Amino acid sequence: MQDAGPDLTGTRVASVYMDHNATSPVRPEIREAMAPYVDPGLGNASSLHRWGRSARAGIERARDCVAQALGCSPAEVFFTSGGTEACNWALKGVLLTAHRQHRRIVTTAIEHYAVLRVCTYLEAHGVEVVRVPADSSGCVDPDAVASAVNERTTLISVMHANNETGCLQPIAAIGELAWRRGVPLHVDAVQTFGKEPVHVEDLNADLLSISAHKANGPKGVGALYVRRGMIVDPLLHGGGQESGMRAGTENVAAIVGFGRAAALMRTGGHGWPEPLRLLRDRLESGICSRIPDVQVNGRSQARLANTVNLSFTGVSSEVLVRALDEHGIAVSSGSACAAGESEPSHVLLGMGLDRARAQSAVRFSLGWGSTQADVTRVLEVLPGLVHRLRERTR
Ligand SMILES: *Cc1c(COP(=O)(O)O)cnc(C)c1O
Repeated sequence: MQDAGPDLTGTRVASVYMDHNATSPVRPEIREAMAPYVDPGLGNASSLHRWGRSARAGIERARDCVAQALGCSPAEVFFTSGGTEACNWALKGVLLTAHRQHRRIVTTAIEHYAVLRVCTYLEAHGVEVVRVPADSSGCVDPDAVASAVNERTTLISVMHANNETGCLQPIAAIGELAWRRGVPLHVDAVQTFGKEPVHVEDLNADLLSISAHKANGPKGVGALYVRRGMIVDPLLHGGGQESGMRAGTENVAAIVGFGRAAALMRTGGHGWPEPLRLLRDRLESGICSRIPDVQVNGRSQARLANTVNLSFTGVSSEVLVRALDEHGIAVSSGSACAAGESEPSHVLLGMGLDRARAQSAVRFSLGWGSTQADVTRVLEVLPGLVHRLRERTR
């Protein structure tokens, strides 16, 4: 059978893609770096022959690139199938082997489900979970984290930037208090890797999760940073891959692409180019000045330069997302992972916002390839759409 390519029958390919926090396009340089490793004739990285050695070399070069981006040693980087696996591994690998008297995790109410649902699972296995709420600006207070920590606490897990609001959390301060209390810190840095500096020493992180596809790399590959000396039990048992820490034949091409993405970040400097922040700010102020009754969620805090989350009073987020899709504009309601579930975003509720505001929230996230023309198009289409949707429900 012929490879038919992606099935977009009956749909229009988004001409304005503003959903980079859900996933981001693979940059051509990254695709090119991956191509030689997609060859079906390539060896297993554990094989001793030259084909195996070539695969191994690709993986180790990628590990060096990721380690350099994080400011750690390559021996502290373990490749996984993505951000979800990295977060699962960090939490389960520390909590499930902890002494029964010390099975307690302090996290926040605004984490990604890759952390929150692991916590629910751990709770069912006798782990005590404390979920610290965020304030209405979308930020978690380090003092609130500090007072939640007690002598039985095994791990603190806090995200670096929130995927829905883009709010940056005070990780360095939380890392400092974790260090003083002698409790290890896991940081879910999936949304910051490639957008902001993610330096394990600056953040005081003992464990840190990242993913390639949120940073213009391929899907299905990520990594867990494990500080030297930190004990984490493996999640997957089998062959001796990843120094015996993560069994399973490596996805060589994806890992190579991940390494290339990390290398591009360094050469392009950390953080978004400033024009992206200007684009986001033009989009945000353009929407707020053209449409009445719009609220920006999480504006008063430091945010990722690419993200804006807005509530359109009286408009259902899902209806608005579908209406924009009809116009070839891709945005998101809540987090992509929660799509289909019509529950309001746990992140916005976790900030203390009311249900109505949470149910009318839409996230615009820009990225590599976003242009002024994209912003102009949204500013042309959105006011009329919101107006019509409000008329309809009146
Ligand atoms: C996307 C995301 C994840 C999950 O990463 P995957 O690679 O998609 O499994 C975890 N945490 C945050 C904050 C994310 O945005």
